[in-house]
Amino acid sequence: MEQTDCVVIGAGVVGLACARALASRGREVIILEADQRFGGATSSRNSEVIHAGLYYPSGSLKAQLCVRGRKLLYAYCRERNIAHRRCGKLVVATSAAQIGELERLAAQARANGVDDLQFIERAEALRLEPQLHCQAALLSPSTGIVDSHGLMLALLGDAEAQGATLVCNTPVLAAEAGAAGIVLHTGGQAPMRLAARTVVNAAGLGAPALAARIEGLSSTHVPRAYFAKGNYFALQGRAPFSRLIYPVPEAAGLGVHLTLDLQGRARFGPDVEWLDLPADTAHFDYRVAPARATAFYREIRRYWPGLPDGALAPDYAGVRPKIHPPGQEAADFRIDGPDTHGVAGLVNLFGIESPGLTAALAIAETVQERLSTG
Ligand SMILES: Cc1cc2nc3c(=O)[nH]c(=O)nc-3n(C[C@H](O)[C@H](O)[C@H](O)COP(=O)(O)OP(=O)(O)OC[C@H]3O[C@@H](n4cnc5c(N)ncnc54)[C@H](O)[C@@H]3O)c2cc1C
Repeated sequence: MEQTDCVVIGAGVVGLACARALASRGREVIILEADQRFGGATSSRNSEVIHAGLYYPSGSLKAQLCVRGRKLLYAYCRERNIAHRRCGKLVVATSAAQIGELERLAAQARANGVDDLQFIERAEALRLEPQLHCQAALLSPSTGIVDSHGLMLALLGDAEAQGATLVCNTPVLAAEAGAAGIVLHTGGQAPMRLAARTVVNAAGLGAPALAARIEGLSSTHVPRAYFAKGNYFALQGRAPFSRLIYPVPEAAGLGVHLTLDLQGRARFGPDVEWLDLPADTAHFDYRVAPARATAFYREIRRYWPGLPDGALAPDYAGVRPKIHPPGQEAADFRIDGPDTHGVAGLVNLFGIESPGLTAALAIAETVQERLSTG
């Protein structure tokens, strides 16, 4: 049996950030990835927005790690020349009835330590974005966009420079936690058994299913997995806005918003499509059904009445790794270390949906802490 110090399972943005953090502390790190390349799952199927941290309940991990992660991420992007833009965003009330919701959101943002939000009247919003329809808006200057692939390349480069190794095509099938550490059983072309002192389960959509196959971890510490697909449509033609435009948030998502990529192209999404699939689903259907466009036209025209017919084309989709069922309040991130579940050396990351890209560097810091106090 092979032996190592740390194994990070999953080479998405969070697993790579954890690997970088552990390697920078001088630890020996192997990253095991089921896929043939890193970052091909949720980390490359999202809006690439650097969130300011407006939405999340006070004191939640999402609130704390989004605000902290955003600051770390901007600094890291500057340091490593990762393409990004602090373009700002407007959250818009499209009816007088929604203005109260903007005020509630502004209060939540302040409680989360987001201190640069500005409440702006309709005329000011139209001065900034002449094609917008709204009654009032919140301007978030510290929201931005980032090249998620460039970010992951930099994280992997840092980790490898400190001695970490990425091994692709290597799904972790099961594990046993015991006195000698955690023994992992891997599949793929060359199945092996690998013993590690420390294991970070950063398997994203697969994290609960994998945790359920760790012998020695009580099932009371494994949440049930739920999946909510988010579909995107691309706008054909010029982007009508220079900032990101968000409606007031809806249940289970942030509403069909407009985001820009670093080339200035506009896309709309993600919507919320709950999938009824077993927890151990490994392959998802990421195709976007053209028929979903009807709802997109209706939602988008609330804040952009000028959206021309036929301007939307199905683009890509991602799946949110939920740990709460439809209709229930969104669950917080779970970073379960030994002090939670009692298994020495193990950290399970569950429910790392949005703002996980923004928070990745701060999640990695917290993983370190959980391991050092466990
Ligand atoms: C539609 C959508 C929009 C989003 N928009 C934003 C946004 O704008 N801003 C933001 O901050 N966040 C956003 N997010 C959230 C963000 O994308 C995720 O939080 C983040 O990418 C999660 O990264 P991860 O590394 O945990 O997971 P992943 O990227 O899913 O990586 C997990 C990896 O683990 C591998 N794996 C799984 N099982 C195993 C196994 N058994 N053995 C080995 N490897 C395994 C997978 O192949 C995968 O590569 C969005 C998410 C979605 C779905």
